[in-house]
Amino acid sequence: MKALYFDNASTTPVDPAVATKMMSCLAIDGFFGNPASTTHGYGWMASEEVEWSREVVADSIDADPREIVWTSGATESDNLAIRGSFEALSEKTGRHRIITLASEHKAVLDTCSNLDADVVVLKPRFDGSIDMEALRRALTPQTLLVSVMLVNNETGVIQPVRDIADMAHASGALMHSDLAQSVGKVVVDVKSLGIDLGALSAHKVHGPKGVGALYVKRDQSIKIAEQQHGGQHERGMRSGTLPTHQLVGMAEAYRLASLDLTTMFSRLDEFRLMLEGACELIGGIRFNGRGVPHIVNLTIEGVEAEMLMAAMPDIALSTGSACNSATLEPSHVLRSMGHSRKEGLSSIRISMGRFTTREEVVQLIQSLQRAVIGLRSQ
Ligand SMILES: *Cc1c(COP(=O)(O)O)cnc(C)c1O
Repeated sequence: MKALYFDNASTTPVDPAVATKMMSCLAIDGFFGNPASTTHGYGWMASEEVEWSREVVADSIDADPREIVWTSGATESDNLAIRGSFEALSEKTGRHRIITLASEHKAVLDTCSNLDADVVVLKPRFDGSIDMEALRRALTPQTLLVSVMLVNNETGVIQPVRDIADMAHASGALMHSDLAQSVGKVVVDVKSLGIDLGALSAHKVHGPKGVGALYVKRDQSIKIAEQQHGGQHERGMRSGTLPTHQLVGMAEAYRLASLDLTTMFSRLDEFRLMLEGACELIGGIRFNGRGVPHIVNLTIEGVEAEMLMAAMPDIALSTGSACNSATLEPSHVLRSMGHSRKEGLSSIRISMGRFTTREEVVQLIQSLQRAVIGLRSQ
């Protein structure tokens, strides 16, 4: 029997409707042409699919289609946003400081640390939220960029991106936000968030892996240096033949996610309540941060997460960050919130998606109960 899937923050299965849409752009009888080919109908038709996708993705975040730059995913988008803006603007403006949060995704943290920039990494509070006073102190007239995600991928914690953007703008800095875990979970509206740059990914919301986008606000002062050279696609910001099937897949996934947003949120909120109730009964379980219901992060006293995984072969979930699962280092997100190494190694992330059912949650609760009680009595 296959394990029940509770690792949706790591990736999600592609929605069958999305797969069907993608298949219409692959073979000879579909829109397989190069969207940049202007000499024949194959190219024109593929280009129409690309522009339809651009409009759908733009619409779903309240952007203009001209503000969408296709990429290979949120990792590339974060790199393009941070590296690209730093290369294009730091010399010109004399601003060399980038401010970010220690609980950000490695795509942001490692990009920052690989730049010759004055990087300030703020420590979040114990509940995972940003310390706005610390941000105020770190913002100088030399600050080029502030990068803080909306929804955290390990804890689900939601940051006050609008307030952060307002503060960044007040000192003349740009605001970037990693939105990979936000689309399909909360309303993402780049205008009311007030951000200048936003990283998107398709595969966290039942779209395909290997595709994403960067939202780049249309504004004279915002410039992005391209990170790969080639055919000057995407208005010179990102070269490479556009993968039509990937883009329609992302668009269809975003369209379906926004149709379903409020009903899914309340369904998953109910599931989270079931989990919270069950954990209270088991006892000695702490919830780390509270944000979107899709992502529940727990520390289980007296139980090592690795042992717990082994004791629950019927459940697929994540200990700490999936990206770190090759090494036995506790999650950098929990560590940054002030949790000890030991607590980090006793923590798991349960993440749900559109296809999670009540029956699955009931089985998860039973398995968790059995495994925790079993391990504690050893
Ligand atoms: C998954 C994820 C990424 C990486 O996205 P890819 O599309 O896989 O490159 C970046 N940031 C966050 C918050 C994520 O959850």
